[in-house]
Amino acid sequence: MEEKFMREAIKLAERAKKKGEVPIGAVVVLDGKVIGKGYNLRTKLQMATAHAEMRAIDRACKKEHSWRLPEAELYVTLEPCPMCMGAILNARIKRVYFGAYEQKGRSLTAELANANLLNHKVEVVGGVLEEECSAVLTSFFTEMRAREKAKKQLEKSRAAGAAALNGPDKRGGGKK
Ligand SMILES: [Zn+2]
Repeated sequence: MEEKFMREAIKLAERAKKKGEVPIGAVVVLDGKVIGKGYNLRTKLQMATAHAEMRAIDRACKKEHSWRLPEAELYVTLEPCPMCMGAILNARIKRVYFGAYEQKGRSLTAELANANLLNHKVEVVGGVLEEECSAVLTSFFTEMRAREKAKKQLEKSRAAGAAALNGPDKRGGGKK
């Protein structure tokens, strides 16, 4: 069951990737049904809050006509950032499943889940389909680095070409 919904989140992450976004996907599930989907669209929208979880929660709230989703679960391919954990707590979501772990010390997931902010604690389960979730992210960054490297090499060879044309040993130079 957990894997089934995480696979849906991975599909959404892949959609983000196709748009050139960091591939992160999320779904909100209620009574075994997806009630909200989202993927990262930060670059396209140039919006700092356009994270997969925020978008999935917004849609789920809209669908349920409620800002509280106390029976809902959220699945996301990467460990949520503090902003998204805040939204999860504000929506009173019951449980969060995430796939890949954020690098050490860069997330406050456990602290925020257990801080009892808003009189609400959320259960968090990490590492669901972890390998598949990380693979989507890793391949995105590998491809991005390869593209950047190719671009730099192109610029370098162009610069070298320009330097050769404007070099000091320009033959036939000088006015007569
Ligand atoms: Zn986030």
